[in-house]
Amino acid sequence: MEQKLVRYNTKLQKLASVDALTGLWNRRSMWEYIRAVEYDYEIGNAGFVSIAIADIDFFKRINDTYGHDAGDEVLKAVAELFMDKMKTYGRVCRWGGEEFLFVFYGRNGDAAYDLQEIYDEIHRLTVSYENEEIRITMTFGLEEYDKNDGMEMAIRRADEKLYQGKETGRDKIVY
Ligand code: GH3
Ligand code: MG
Ligand code: MG
Repeated sequence: MEQKLVRYNTKLQKLASVDALTGLWNRRSMWEYIRAVEYDYEIGNAGFVSIAIADIDFFKRINDTYGHDAGDEVLKAVAELFMDKMKTYGRVCRWGGEEFLFVFYGRNGDAAYDLQEIYDEIHRLTVSYENEEIRITMTFGLEEYDKNDGMEMAIRRADEKLYQGKETGRDKIVY
């Protein structure tokens, strides 16, 4: 009985941490992760940390053209691609509707290089829905974490860069 309860509890915790549509971590559990990363950084265990925010371009048009279910399929496909890539680069979550937040951590590489790879994959992605082949572009803002400014500031700056990218033609990474 007790073991059953423990299992049930673990299951509930998992459900509360994961976005139901995409299977990605949700915003709440990402904050837990971010606090852990900040702690690691504090004690000198984290080499370098970067934050990126990504948003699907003209996503409303996808819904309007192909329907909301097609939009959901696009979100799932994008999430799968991100999840696969971020396994080795850090963590990604569904930050909001068609927005995703990436934490690049625990790798000695260059986040800009890793993000470029993800950007290129988005360009190659086609989502099949009924008889349609749907293609999308995304805009990204990338910001390095600075311990003195904190993670909230890094996220805000990444978001500002994303906005800049939207204002200047979309389909790009703003560094
Ligand atoms: P922009 O390039 O400026 O980001 O344009 P946009 O159309 O992507 O942005 P906007 O904020 O106008 O529209 C976002 C749309 O995303 C509207 C909303 O209905 C849709 N959306 C949010 N969450 C979901 C979801 O879970 N499923 C589907 N199908 N659509 C969603
Ligand atoms: Mg959008
Ligand atoms: Mg948006």
